[in-house]
Amino acid sequence: MTNTMTKSIDLKKYIRDIPDFPKKGIIFKDISPLLGNRQAFRETIDLLAEQFKNERIESIIAIEARGFIFGSALAYKLGVGFVPIRKKGKLPYKTKSITYQLEYGTDTLEMHSDAVSPKARVLIVDDVLATGGTVRAVADLLKQHGAVIVGVASLIELTFLKGKDKLKDVPLYSLIQY
Ligand code: AMP
Repeated sequence: MTNTMTKSIDLKKYIRDIPDFPKKGIIFKDISPLLGNRQAFRETIDLLAEQFKNERIESIIAIEARGFIFGSALAYKLGVGFVPIRKKGKLPYKTKSITYQLEYGTDTLEMHSDAVSPKARVLIVDDVLATGGTVRAVADLLKQHGAVIVGVASLIELTFLKGKDKLKDVPLYSLIQY
């Protein structure tokens, strides 16, 4: 997976830091300026698509909620299906779920039980990889159901949180690192 396309604009210019949101001590990476700029948003999707265009992906697996924005545009660009991963209780049909550990307590994510066929080649998409806990849970859920995880694509990677260490079995690709 080498990327032959180079960035023509500095995408970092379109990421805004919001200190102490949603709670004290967190610097929230606000992607709204990037989404609102037609060139930055388009380039983001084009770069991600370039990276994965030859990977014979069947479905994009996107994580609620901001992962949906990038995941759906990328699915359209690659001409592949889109599968939403949602918080517990939001999906209307039969689901497969996974519960994972948060700093305080646990969280549960779900996908429709017929959304991914066994051996399907899938790409996980989210906006920010922080501790990697969320993507790890999604990867485990997909593996339990026999999918082949081609990679994880994230707009931003917070490298100081070492999320990559939790994802040694899946290739990680991020466009912006902090
Ligand atoms: P994690 O499981 O720690 O990798 O957290 C990933 C999820 O939390 C992603 O879906 C992000 O949208 C969100 N997130 C975590 N940290 C940040 C941050 N500093 N800025 C924006 N979103 C974040």
